[in-house]
Amino acid sequence: VPLSFDTEGATPMMMQFLEIKEQYQDCLLFYRMGDFYELFFDDAVKAAEALDIALTKRGKHQGNEIPMAGVPVHSHETYLQRLIRKGFRVAVCEQMEDPAEAKKRGAKSVVKRGVVRLITPGTLTEDSLLDARRHNYLAAVSEVRGKVGLAWLDMSTGDFYVQPCDMSGLPAALARLDAGELLISDKLLNRSEMFDIYAEYKNVITPQPASRFDAENAQLRLKKLYEVAALDAFGGFEIAELSAAGALIDYVDLTQKGQMPRLAPPQRMAAGAAMEIDAATRRSLELTQTQSGERKGSLLSVIDRTRTGAGARLLAARLSAPLTDAGTINKRLDLVSYFHDRDALRSDLRAALGECPDIERALSRLSVGRGGPRDLAAMRDGLACAFAIGNLLHKPDGGNDGLTAQPASLVDHLTDMGHHGDLVDLLRRSLSENLPLLARDGGFIAGGYHPPLDELRMLSSESKKLIANLQARYTEQTAITSLKVKHNNVLGYFIEVPAKQADRMMEIDEFIHRQTMANAVRFTTVELSELESKVSKAGDQALALELELFDSLVTGVLEHADAIARCAQALAGLDVSAALAELARDQGCIRPTIDDSLAFDIRGGRHPVVEAALRENGDSPFVANDCRLEGEQSLWLITGPNMAGKSTFLRQNALIAVLAQIGAFVPAETAHIGVIDRLFSRVGAADDLARGRSTFMVEMVETAAILNQASDRSLVILDEIGRGTATFDGLSIAWAVVENLHEVNKCRGLFATHYHELTALAAKLAHLSCHTMLIKEWQGEVVFLHEVGAGSADRSYGIHVAQLAGLPKPVIKRAEQVLKTLEKGEQGGAVSKLADDLPLFAAAIEQVKQEEKAKSPALSPEQKALLDAVAEIDPDNMTPREALDALYRLRAIR
Ligand code: ADP
Repeated sequence: VPLSFDTEGATPMMMQFLEIKEQYQDCLLFYRMGDFYELFFDDAVKAAEALDIALTKRGKHQGNEIPMAGVPVHSHETYLQRLIRKGFRVAVCEQMEDPAEAKKRGAKSVVKRGVVRLITPGTLTEDSLLDARRHNYLAAVSEVRGKVGLAWLDMSTGDFYVQPCDMSGLPAALARLDAGELLISDKLLNRSEMFDIYAEYKNVITPQPASRFDAENAQLRLKKLYEVAALDAFGGFEIAELSAAGALIDYVDLTQKGQMPRLAPPQRMAAGAAMEIDAATRRSLELTQTQSGERKGSLLSVIDRTRTGAGARLLAARLSAPLTDAGTINKRLDLVSYFHDRDALRSDLRAALGECPDIERALSRLSVGRGGPRDLAAMRDGLACAFAIGNLLHKPDGGNDGLTAQPASLVDHLTDMGHHGDLVDLLRRSLSENLPLLARDGGFIAGGYHPPLDELRMLSSESKKLIANLQARYTEQTAITSLKVKHNNVLGYFIEVPAKQADRMMEIDEFIHRQTMANAVRFTTVELSELESKVSKAGDQALALELELFDSLVTGVLEHADAIARCAQALAGLDVSAALAELARDQGCIRPTIDDSLAFDIRGGRHPVVEAALRENGDSPFVANDCRLEGEQSLWLITGPNMAGKSTFLRQNALIAVLAQIGAFVPAETAHIGVIDRLFSRVGAADDLARGRSTFMVEMVETAAILNQASDRSLVILDEIGRGTATFDGLSIAWAVVENLHEVNKCRGLFATHYHELTALAAKLAHLSCHTMLIKEWQGEVVFLHEVGAGSADRSYGIHVAQLAGLPKPVIKRAEQVLKTLEKGEQGGAVSKLADDLPLFAAAIEQVKQEEKAKSPALSPEQKALLDAVAEIDPDNMTPREALDALYRLRAIR
């Protein structure tokens, strides 16, 4: 790479900056200067704009002023957070020596500096940069000889996974991960199969040179990292998986400058282990976020009752990847049942979890050399919590009555929690009560833990006492009552007297003048300086000793890193199970029956999110519905007017399936589900204008994916296919899609449509049955019962909904006329004559006027005047003042 800057004539410091900057061209360079990180040139301009901070100048380079912007070191994390959110990468360049050292080399020499870390969206560890309740994955995709490998890790927790994949399954797998940063080789990115993936993920993709994906090198790296001779111990990995995993490790190494965090050995997620849910389905079902990208209103936000960050992350991860193995699902359900049946135990457990700090993330910071005393304290408290929770779960009144066996997963969790008594004890003895954020601030080691440290502290505190005594002595000696011994960071200790008394001080030899202020004059003495140097020497030594002790405590913790990580995961598992049990109690959910059959039998099912919303708004309660997709009726055709509850019904069954397969209880009276391998849902599409596709195109692309991929184990939910095109087009497509689902895919499915013509298919297709949203007509009004019944809707009621929405009356009237004529015309096959057969629109307006007149009783003159006055008001063209005047006028009429 050629130097991007001409260094000709640069100052030595600028020279150093330019040399470092050259290696980190895709990053903003945070260049440490004393108490600030400074940015120069383009970096400064970009950062100033992104952070809304001042853009200043510092000196000149080749005749031009150098733009500069800076952020204070002590508050730089908030700035970092904003930059990372905006998609910047940041290289942090620190001073690698004491500036005094540089001075010794000569007045002009520059402090040694070096980049200690690259901060990228996928490699964060700080709590301030992370969402405590969400995983932040760094993922890599690799392709070797036609096979695709996917690997991902969360640096903040040490989780590390690989998965075999193929090109067609890649989009769904990436949608599941929702990674913070995605590594793909530039070679692979240029392939046409990757265009869609690039379009979808361009904001998080960090292209990498293909050499980083070298599989040979990957194996060496993995072996070295885990200190093993062969990788077989981790299970058989394919070359593509190894290559992706190696690229991740390479990247972590690169961004952390060799300081590797603790990473669990990579776990392999077998193909098909998770229910496959493509990106469109995830979006439409709003599993972890709503269509507008918010967490609130998603399924996750409604079901999340976890008490810890780690629990919340685990629940989100499970919700993103429901299982397909009935045995494993039932194992999870056993534990939820266990807590569901034991109210007291559950409540004690949840209270204990509420006290538990995030040891997973603390451990990761400690392992990467970025931890502080508070991370050690988190370790102490978290492991102590684990111990208390272990006791709780072992106690007889904790449900362990020795008669009912504890579920296997509970036993596993208890084993994984392990015993950390010695470590807790060590940390309890060593840490003091109030802890600084950073180790270098000192003062975090408890008194009595390390005698040499106590001695140094005593020395310093005794000298401080002597200094305090000096004030009394000097006051007596000088007879200046307002004399004070003070301390600041620039002068250290000094004696201060009011300016008026300065002369008296000057007369005494012992006092040496230091500084004259506006109102005061400052002095020192030999004795004071000596004591001060004792204090500061003891202080320096104490701090150095504390830092040594800190390192040894960190080492002590890291020796148990794997066991601590297992413990943290066990706690998260308990949190999720207890939280799901709590949810079940709260929301009246039941344990689903899960097996390998092809059953889908939900009785009294409810939509968890819509139900919660109705409850929150105090609306009428949610109407539960059955859904039985088996044998004669594995495919349901659902008709009914808009707003009758079709989409809600469709989605609720998909959500129940997802919940059941993550091992949660479900909102229903009973549920029996044979595991679903893939879930497809196409429920309304927003225009995908970013990719230049119309709604109809998106709908067809997604439908194609369903028809090509759904198996007899899949669940397919389709809403209003064909709506985006002309009637006959749409009807024909919908027709053919239903036939394909029935004859070829043979899946379980729900198909909602407003094409009543489709109901004719039921006679032809053995497994298709017709259902409709029930409606009551009452005094000319339509009432939605939100109940699913057998049969099909006889009318569309679309016009009714239009009326509810407030379309002008003449338009409603007119639509009714058109509908009547159409219905007649359909029988006669003369739709084309429509325009001739219909009376003029003006006639509809007139008709409505007449009807209104006939309906409305005679008005009093005041009422008429009032109505006329109201009609005259044109709110769109009024100032607030005019609106107020109008209100007064109206009141005057009364
Ligand atoms: P459609 O898809 O038929 O147009 P929706 O499913 O969008 O109708 O439902 C419209 C509204 O009706 C929902 O927002 C919800 O408030 C209400 N609703 C739907 N299903 C139910 C139900 N089972 N019980 C109570 N209210 C429901």
